[in-house]
Amino acid sequence: MEKIKISVGHLYPKQLNLYGDMGNIITLRKRCRWRGIDFEYVEINGEDRIPECDFYFIGGGQDREQVEVSKSLYKQKDFLTEQRDKGAVFLGICGGYQLLGHYYQPFEGERLNGVSLLDAYTVAGEKRFIGNVTARTGFLRPSTLVGFENHSGLTYIKGDTKPLAILTTGNGNNGYDNTEGAKFLNVFGTYLHGSLLPKNPHFADFLITLALEKRYEDEIELAPLDDKLEYIAHRAAVGKDY
Ligand code: GLN
Repeated sequence: MEKIKISVGHLYPKQLNLYGDMGNIITLRKRCRWRGIDFEYVEINGEDRIPECDFYFIGGGQDREQVEVSKSLYKQKDFLTEQRDKGAVFLGICGGYQLLGHYYQPFEGERLNGVSLLDAYTVAGEKRFIGNVTARTGFLRPSTLVGFENHSGLTYIKGDTKPLAILTTGNGNNGYDNTEGAKFLNVFGTYLHGSLLPKNPHFADFLITLALEKRYEDEIELAPLDDKLEYIAHRAAVGKDY
């Protein structure tokens, strides 16, 4: 019997890979392979044409890297919108998250175009938010997500785009409206570095399931893994002081 698989497009890892965001790819790859699911991985850099994938990942980066990436990404906005509307899963972390919205206005320099997969926009704030974050989702069990934030961008979400989670500790989207991250269809953005998925295995499996269901157009239930260690790490981080 043919092995099931997911195809994963890693967007601009040469520029956007801050604070160990590659750990998210490693987690997705391991959690697929431990279940015998093929993990077809491709990096997209520079002016590469973005291929059709089940899952796209874009990590965080400093303003200057975001300037370069936004130019390449924006040229393929229509294709990415088509992929979103076909159910592809997107996970954007921090700087990558900001570019999944309409724009990012850094402190200095021009406004960076985003690809508007999320109804959100970001403007640079005076203060840098650096510290541990715990937030509660309404769709995961356990409900908590933990991670580490380091950004000055303030993100505001609108319309049908909803918060990914509600803060327990930390500043999240903007330090004002108590929200962290954003989601619309199968597009997810978050400020949580760490990297995010090793300590949030339930979110990793949630995303893998969405990507498989998109590819096979059927309900998928993943075999459970022994996540004792992962949840010890998760619980140790829940509520960690800022
Ligand atoms: N440069 C962006 C900001 O400071 C994103 C930073 C990041 O990806 N950690 O908000």
